[in-house]
Amino acid sequence: MALIFQYLKQLRGRLAWSMGLKFFASIFELFLPRILTHIIDEIVPLGEIKIVVFWGLLMVAVAGLTTFMNVVANRAAVRNARDVAFSVRRDLFGKTARLSGSRFDLFTLPSLTSRMTSDSYNIQQFAQTLQAMCVRAPFLMLGGIIMMYTMDVVLASILVAIIIPLGLFIFLVSRKGIPLFNVVQEKLDTVVRIMRENITGIRVVKALSKKDYEERRFDEANEAMFRSNTKASAIMALPGPVMNLCLNAGLALVVYVGAMRVNAGAMKAGVILGSLTYFNTILMSVMALNRIFIMMSKAAASARRIEEVLVSPEDQPVLEPQACLSPAGKELVRMENVTFRYQEAADPLSRQQQTPALRNISFALKEGESLGIIGPTGAGKSTVLQLLMRFYDVKEGGVFIDGRDVRGFDKDELRRYFGVVFQNDIVFNDSLFNNIDFGRSLSQEQVDGAVTHAMAADFVYGLKGGLDFVADIKGANLSGGQKQRLLIARALAGKPRILILDDSSSALDYRTDAQLRKTLGEHYQNSTLIMIAQRVSSIRNLTNILVLKDGACIGYGPHDHLMEHCAYYRDICQAQMGALE
Ligand code: ADP
Ligand code: MG
Repeated sequence: MALIFQYLKQLRGRLAWSMGLKFFASIFELFLPRILTHIIDEIVPLGEIKIVVFWGLLMVAVAGLTTFMNVVANRAAVRNARDVAFSVRRDLFGKTARLSGSRFDLFTLPSLTSRMTSDSYNIQQFAQTLQAMCVRAPFLMLGGIIMMYTMDVVLASILVAIIIPLGLFIFLVSRKGIPLFNVVQEKLDTVVRIMRENITGIRVVKALSKKDYEERRFDEANEAMFRSNTKASAIMALPGPVMNLCLNAGLALVVYVGAMRVNAGAMKAGVILGSLTYFNTILMSVMALNRIFIMMSKAAASARRIEEVLVSPEDQPVLEPQACLSPAGKELVRMENVTFRYQEAADPLSRQQQTPALRNISFALKEGESLGIIGPTGAGKSTVLQLLMRFYDVKEGGVFIDGRDVRGFDKDELRRYFGVVFQNDIVFNDSLFNNIDFGRSLSQEQVDGAVTHAMAADFVYGLKGGLDFVADIKGANLSGGQKQRLLIARALAGKPRILILDDSSSALDYRTDAQLRKTLGEHYQNSTLIMIAQRVSSIRNLTNILVLKDGACIGYGPHDHLMEHCAYYRDICQAQMGALE
C-alpha cells in the first residue's frame, strides 16, 4: 500500500487540485437542499414571484457549478490515475527486464505478466476512486448529518439511528466477503492457466484427440471458480438490498414523523424535503465509503504483488576487481570446474540431493577457435550459454570472458561480446530490417551483409517489400527455416566477437546448413563460434567438441579424437551417418 502512496505523492500538486475541487463541489452540494428548504419555508410564503425566481435561479446556478466542478475534478482524477498506472507499469517493466534468470524463474512468466496487467489496473482503479471519493464521501456524510441537525434534531436522530447499525453491518459483511474475492482471484488464475495451455497447445490437443479430457479439466476449474464466485457475490450482494430497505424505511419515517411535527407546529414543511435529500446523500456516501474499502483491499493485494518485484534486491551485482576470480588462462572464453544448479537450496544437505544441471565443466576457447556442444536434450547444453552470458551466477567454479570473471563486467559490456541465437528464439512483430537491426542502428550494408551470410537473401528479397516485409507476431507468416535464417542474420549483424548458435541450424536443410558453416568460416574467422547442434555434421569440423550427458562432460576434443575415445560420440555419429546413407 505504501507503494501506491509513493506513486501518488509524485503527483502531489495535481492531486491537491482534483481533490480540492471535489471538496468545494461537496460544500456546494451540501448547501443545495438547504436552499430548497429556505425557498419553501421562507421565500414562497412571501408570495413575491420575482424573489422566488431569483432563488430558483440561484439554486440552478449552484447545481450547475457543482456539476461542472465535479466533472472537471473527475477528469483530473482519471488522468492522475492513468499516470500512476503508467509509472507503475514502466517501472515494473524496467525491473522485469533487469531481473536475473533465477529471480525470473522464481516469479514465473505468467505471474509477471498479470502483475504488469491486471494488478496495475487494480491500482489505477483504486487511485481513481480514492480521488473521487475519499474527500467527498466522508465530507458529505458528516456534513449532511450536521446540516440535518441544524434543521431538525428529531429527524437527524432518526437518520443517525439508522446509519450506525447499517454502517456496522456493511463493514462486517465486507470483512467477510473480501477474503472470498481473493479466493475467486486464485481460482481465476487456474482457469486462465488452463485456458492458456489449451490455446497454446491447441494443435497437440486436437492431434491427440484430447478434447474431452481438456474440456473436463477446464470444466472442473471453471466450476470451482463459479462456486467461489457465487458464494462471494451472494455475501457481497447483501448490503445492496439491506441498504435500500433502510433508505426507504428511513424516508417513510422522515415523511411520517416530519408530517406529525409539522402538524404539531414543531417545524416547517420544507425541512421534510431537505431532510429527504440529505438522507439520500448520506446513505450514498456510506455506500461509497464501502466501495473504497473493498477496492482498497483489492488494490493492497495487487500493490503487494507489484512491490515484491520492484523491491526484489539486485542479486547479480557487478563485483569489484578484488572480489573476482582470476582465470588460469587468458583465452577469450573459459569455464573452470563449473558445477551449477538452477535452484540453489539454502542448506547444504538438500543441495547435495539436487541434481546439478552442469557438473565440473571446464573448457577454453581462443579467439577465432570454435566449439561444438552436442548431447541429448536436458544435458545442460543451453545452460552453458546462459552461464557464459551471466543470466545466472555460478557458485562453484568460474566463468571467464576475455580473461576476466564475468561477474566483474558491466552487463552491457559483457553482452556486447555476444551475438546469439537462442533455442526457441523469437521473431518480433516488426519489419525484417528492424528484426535484424534490433535497435543497434546498424547500416543498410551491415544488415544486407548479415542477410547474405545467414543464407537468408533468397527468401528475404523474394518477399514483398524485402527487408520492409513485416513479420507477424512470433514470425507466424514465416516458415521455421526462414525464421532461423532471420535470427542467424540478427546474431551475425553486429559482427560479434563470440557467436553462439543454440540448435539454430536444426530447421535448415543439410545443404543450407553446410553452406552456412562455409560462410561462417570465410567471413567470420575473427568471431569465436560456439555451436550447439543435434547433427554431428554441423560441428564435426570445429576446433573442439564438448559432449555433454546429464550435465557432465563425457568427451572433449576434436572430432577425430572423440571418434577414438568417446564411445557415446561414436554412437551418435554412426547412427547419423547411417541414417544419411
Ligand atoms: P539442453 O539445452 O541440453 O537440452 P538445458 O541446458 O536447457 O538442456 O537444461 C539442462 C537441465 O536444466 C534440464 O534438466 C532442465 O530441465 C534444467 N533447466 C533448464 N532451465 C531451467 C530453469 N530455468 N529452471 C530450472 N531448471 C532448468
Ligand atoms: Mg537446449
